Amino acid sequence: MEIFKFGGASVKDAEGVKNLANIVRDYKNGELLIVISAMGKITNKLEELNYAYLNQSENAHSIFEEVKHFHFDIIEALFEGKHNPVYDDVANTFVEIDWLLEDEPDNDPDYIYDQIVSIGEVVSTKIVAAWLNETGNKTLWADARNYIKTDNTYREGKVDWDKTNAIIQKELKPLLAQNIIVTQGFIGGTSENYTTTLGREGSDYSAAIFASCLDANALTIWKDVPGVLNADPKWFDETEKIDQLSYHDAIELTYYGATVIHPKTIKPLQNKGIPLFVRSFITPEGNGTAITKENNPLPVPSFIFKVNQALISIFPKDYSFIIEENLSNIFDLFHKHRVKINTMLNSAISFSVSVDDNEEKISKLIDALSAQFTIKYNKNLELVTIRYYNQQTIDRVAVDKDILLEVKSRHTCQMVMKDKNTNR
Ligand code: ASP
Ligand code: MG
Repeated sequence: MEIFKFGGASVKDAEGVKNLANIVRDYKNGELLIVISAMGKITNKLEELNYAYLNQSENAHSIFEEVKHFHFDIIEALFEGKHNPVYDDVANTFVEIDWLLEDEPDNDPDYIYDQIVSIGEVVSTKIVAAWLNETGNKTLWADARNYIKTDNTYREGKVDWDKTNAIIQKELKPLLAQNIIVTQGFIGGTSENYTTTLGREGSDYSAAIFASCLDANALTIWKDVPGVLNADPKWFDETEKIDQLSYHDAIELTYYGATVIHPKTIKPLQNKGIPLFVRSFITPEGNGTAITKENNPLPVPSFIFKVNQALISIFPKDYSFIIEENLSNIFDLFHKHRVKINTMLNSAISFSVSVDDNEEKISKLIDALSAQFTIKYNKNLELVTIRYYNQQTIDRVAVDKDILLEVKSRHTCQMVMKDKNTNR
């Protein structure tokens, strides 16, 4: 059996849904479970809706109308004559949110977020499952909240692997013999059956969980790029597709910020030796990238860019050395303020880190750090990570840049850089 995962870009309109069905039609390797995200950019819209509702803004109503229209336009383009049960099914899902929006938001905001934002996936999978049935593929819609069991850390549900594994084996596996199964990425359920989400872009991770618990032969993630490239085409004109890479390199690349796959996806697959294919839903005949246990080094250096970085340098106010007395304290503050360190370097009396410059979080963190340390910081920077670097690749990205911090290990070089032409 295999797992397919389709993200929002692949099902952003009726054509996308039809294209997905063609890919499924051409699949000939036996049992299949399909994990799907919310359509297009609906998750962002639902986040806006959630925000408007929490602030009791008048916009909530019109944003929700937009979400409904978006989906019904797609349904109408697919199913003629309103006879298909998907019309009622989707309308009923929306009614649940209508009810929620009628009351004042007096619950935990993260809980409310999950109840609202999760419907993107619920609705997208209802539409796709209906279309697959309509086009002759016997398909069952499965509610991921019954299978992916999490704790109640809303917005960042932690998966209970034992429970999840047991219930998938017992209740989901037998259904695959008779049907293609369509289910949601990104969402899970608590033991009291409340909806949780697994963190933005978490659908890849969901697909890996299903693959692991079902001992799938492969997971294929269908994307709008031909496979894993050695750089994001947004930053580089010339990119190369990597035909095969090791789990290890895939983890490193995604950890440093390659957005092609969610970083949490690889480990569960690696543990069970399940290959991960990244292929294009635009050119499905291409063979994409295979991520497997074969430990070949990357054929070309790979580049990962992160913009909007802040470099924070921390100095003890007394004469103490940074490592001995201060590091645990510093990490504690980063952890408390939920600021993730992208790269770091220490000297005897200083500690420097590069972080995503989230204005609000960072200013609170700096306030907290300033109680004990002298802080210097620099904004509007870029972090470039090169995997399998050499001097030539460093020179290539450093043109017209000042390198403020450089960290090298055997295979990876990270540089925090400032554009020479911007005086900030
Ligand atoms: N729909 C969710 C998001 O946009 C999950 C995903 O696409 O992976 O974050
Ligand atoms: Mg997405």
